[in-house]
Order: sequence, then structure tokens, then C-alpha cells
Amino acid sequence: MLITNVSVMDVERGVTDRANVLVREGVIEAVGSDVDGPDPFDGNGGLLLPGLIDCHVHVAFPRAEPLPRSARVLEAVSVLSGLLARGVTTVRDAWGADAGFRHALREGWITGPDLLVSLRQLSPTGGLGDWWAADAGREDRIADPSLPDSVFDGPDEARAAVRRMVRAGADWIKLGASGALASIREGRSVEPTDAELHAVVDEAGRCGRDVMAHAHTTRSAAAAARAGARSIEHGVFLDEAAVTAMRESGCWYVPTLAPADGDPDLRRAHRRSLDLARAAGVPIAAGSDLAPRPHVDLTTELRLLSEAGLGPAGAVRAATSEAARLLRLNDRGRIEPGLRADLLLLHGAEVDVTDLAGRVRAVWQQGRLVTG
Ligand SMILES: [Zn+2]
Repeated sequence: MLITNVSVMDVERGVTDRANVLVREGVIEAVGSDVDGPDPFDGNGGLLLPGLIDCHVHVAFPRAEPLPRSARVLEAVSVLSGLLARGVTTVRDAWGADAGFRHALREGWITGPDLLVSLRQLSPTGGLGDWWAADAGREDRIADPSLPDSVFDGPDEARAAVRRMVRAGADWIKLGASGALASIREGRSVEPTDAELHAVVDEAGRCGRDVMAHAHTTRSAAAAARAGARSIEHGVFLDEAAVTAMRESGCWYVPTLAPADGDPDLRRAHRRSLDLARAAGVPIAAGSDLAPRPHVDLTTELRLLSEAGLGPAGAVRAATSEAARLLRLNDRGRIEPGLRADLLLLHGAEVDVTDLAGRVRAVWQQGRLVTG
């Protein structure tokens, strides 16, 4: 197939070029103005981007109301197909999806992006992964053998928790380095010790996995980065010490601006964290934190990242080449020969992310047209 009459975006340099793109067997074979080939697809002068990568989603987040287990699984089917239809071709799930979702996608039982799973978020007792209610005690609302117990206390138990996730098919290890915003506000955020953080990262590394760390506070973000977490998620309240630790440790920042954007105080703190991280030279990757309902879309996150200072080209880079680098997926994230033909064609040639969802013209996943 030959995609013609498009502006091809070089996401690393933030520039576009009129070119044709030749795709063969799911892979980009050639890019250039004189490239020719069979089965032309007229792009009508639109903008061609690499397929988008969302580094923080929850495609199977439990609902607040008690429902049978199948409801969580079946809801994810339309979430996944909807993501792909909007040009999101790879996602990293940050808690909730088990390895069966990845299997179903690979087998073609359902359609959706390439899915990396982390199963459940690890934390000490009282931390992010520990569900407990004053009237009911420990209540594991997503109890399921395919999502193993994630609570640990002490380095040895932390290693065991990582091993349980690896045994159940986790691609990434998700760690709660701080509590949720509500528990921080209420003064009951339990955070792992440095020894526990090191045990999680070390054990994950021994198993060939990386760690993504949910961390809102400056202390938790700095400690997780120093321990070797590959990305810090959210980081609403970062300071210079935290972003310095992140830069020195080679850690990515996945800010997930969208969910907290409606609260003026959180929004102000969050944007300041992003400014500090950018000023320090911390690489930024995009994540929507697709969890609160209605589901937040990555295209919303890109608009917010752009407004927050990355600009449209920087926002696109955070969701393509930079995201691929964070996820160690060196077969995608740019439009270059030899890479996967995960492609998103937009109406209009302008590099602008204010209404990406409304501009989707066509989506290819490994060279197969899935929208358009
Ligand atoms: Zn999340």
C-alpha cells in the first residue's frame, strides 16, 4: 500500500514534509516524495502521524457500583476498540487489566491497541494498592486470581509481590510510591521505605521488567526515581529536588494532567511540576490516566500538554517517539523505514492538537486499515 498526498510528521524534529509512505507486510518500507508503490490511498493533503501511544491507561478499571466480574471485562471491549479508532495504537495499562486482555487482542478476538499490562499496583499495607474500609476491613474489590495480591511489607515481601505479578504475566510493575490524592489530603498516605523501593526495582529488573511509580509527593517521586523507577506518574506536587532526582536517574515523567485539570489548585501545582521537570530536562511522555468516567481521552491530554508549554509538536512527541522510548518499544513511535506501520491520518495538514479526535481520517495498525 502507498499512502500519497500527505504531510508526514517527523516527530523528533517537529516538522512535516510532503511525502508518500510505502507500507508492506505491516512495516513502513520507504518514505519520500518520489516513493511509488501499489494500492494508493489518497491522504487528501492530511497530516500523517505515527500511531499514538498512551503510557497510562486503565482499560478495565473497576466501577464504584458492585457488578459481576464480567461487567468489567465487557466494558473494556468498547474502551479498547474506541482507543484504536481514535489512533491510539499502543497503551500501557497502569492497573486493572490482566494478561487475558492482551491475549484476546493478540488472538484478534477483540480489536484495540497493543496492550502492556501491569495487573495491580504494589504498595505496603495502607498504601495505594491496599483496599480497606472502616466498616468492612480489607475488602478486595477486584479479587481475581489473574490479578494477584499486591500488598507487601518489607523488602522480601516486596520481591515476592513482584514475582507474583511476573508469574501472572505483567509486562510492567506498577508501584504506589505515594497514596492517592485523597489519602495525602487526609494525612494517611503510606509510602514504601527506600529498602522496599530498591527491592521492587531490583526484583523487577532481575525479571526483565521496569517499574512505573505512582507518586504525587516530592519525597515519594524523588525516592522512587533514585531507586530506579523508569517513570514517575502524576507527580502533582513536584519540587526541584524531585525533578533533579528524576533527571539524574534517567527517569521519565508521565504527568497525566487531564484527571486533575478541573481543580484549580491541583491544576496550578501540576503545571508547576511540569514546568520544573521540563526546565530540568526530564523527558516527558504522555498518559491520559484513562480511568475516571467518562473516560479521559489521550487527545484531551495532548491538548493540555500543548497548552501547558510543550506546544503541539512537543505534545505529539510525548505520545509517539518519547513514549516508545520510555516503553522500550524501538519498533514504533516514528514514521521511518523498518518501523511498524501504526499510523494516524488527520484531516488537514496543520500540526495542532486542539481537536485531534475530531480530525481522525484513517488509522492503520501494523499496516491494516482499522478506521477510515
Ligand atoms: Zn492511573
